[in-house]
Amino acid sequence: MKVVVVVGGVGGARFLLGVKRLLGLPPVGPADSPHEVTAVVNTADDIWLHGLRICPDLDTCMYTLGGGIDTERGWGRTGESWTVKEELAAYGTDAEWFGLGDKDIATHLVRTRMMRAGYDLSDITAALCDRWKPGVRLLPMTDDRVETHVVIDEPGTGERKAVHFQEWWIRHRAEPRAQSIVPVGADEATPGPGVLEAIGEADLVLLAPSNPVVSIGSVLAVPGLRGALRKTGAPVVGVSPIIGDKPVRGMADACLAAIGLETSAQAVGRHYGSRACSDKGILDGWLVHTGDKADVEGVAVRAVPLLMSDVDTTAEMVRAAFDLGGVEVPA
Ligand code: GDP
Ligand code: CA
Repeated sequence: MKVVVVVGGVGGARFLLGVKRLLGLPPVGPADSPHEVTAVVNTADDIWLHGLRICPDLDTCMYTLGGGIDTERGWGRTGESWTVKEELAAYGTDAEWFGLGDKDIATHLVRTRMMRAGYDLSDITAALCDRWKPGVRLLPMTDDRVETHVVIDEPGTGERKAVHFQEWWIRHRAEPRAQSIVPVGADEATPGPGVLEAIGEADLVLLAPSNPVVSIGSVLAVPGLRGALRKTGAPVVGVSPIIGDKPVRGMADACLAAIGLETSAQAVGRHYGSRACSDKGILDGWLVHTGDKADVEGVAVRAVPLLMSDVDTTAEMVRAAFDLGGVEVPA
């Protein structure tokens, strides 16, 4: 069986652990299995810092599925030390707001060196995964440079300007209201190698409960991606990251407000839309949390527990997504 999952970082990576568990793959580490899980990963959070190319969502997926993640933080390496960060701060360098741990920096050094040598991000990701063996094919949504920028009135000066998503999200904790959020470069990007083929050949496509604007939304902004989801023969089932009108973690409400949506499972489901009933829609099924309601025309909606408290619970969510898509879970 071939399952494709569209993902961002922490929410996406945790969901992938459940997909692997349900298919009988060890959640962490390499998989020897007839089943193939492919993750199409958001790369619009990527950023250059200190001359290094950082890919937060790819790395979160790779470390989580490869057993290297700091499980408490949800991002970065386990057993991390922060010597380089402290030294950079002592020089008064900018960008000390971004948590770059010593072990993590090694990943960015390898990636950046390969980039400078001319390799594409998809090749580099495969090379990094030779070490981590995530048991899931991690495909960048594109090899092209796409970076989400957020227009804000800068705290202090009040000056209106566009900042990198990470600066808004991490440095400013998404507090200055986002006037707009734009995946810069997406219009000219092409899908990464293997992405369209994977969606076309899938038996089931899942949208992880990732940020609908800056994770799933960025993937959908790459020309060709939305069309591939609309025309695949596989059912497409999405999982709500919004429970009880709040994001489960993080500040996705600030992103939804920026694109004029209320923070509710129904609003996100309608935003993704129905493959059958709208010209841009991508969903056949939409999973919401027990007690939440969503009425999305042309989409089968079901309510089940959606808290990813542990891998088994997450696997049950994934089972519900299979059921809703009418896909039998392989024995
Ligand atoms: P990021 O790139 O690290 O921000 O992670 P993602 O975009 O993949 O996922 C972030 C989203 O995951 C947030 O909007 C959360 O609401 C959602 N999320 C986190 N934990 C859970 C959970 O246990 N259940 C559900 N349904 N959503 C979750
Ligand atoms: Ca992210």
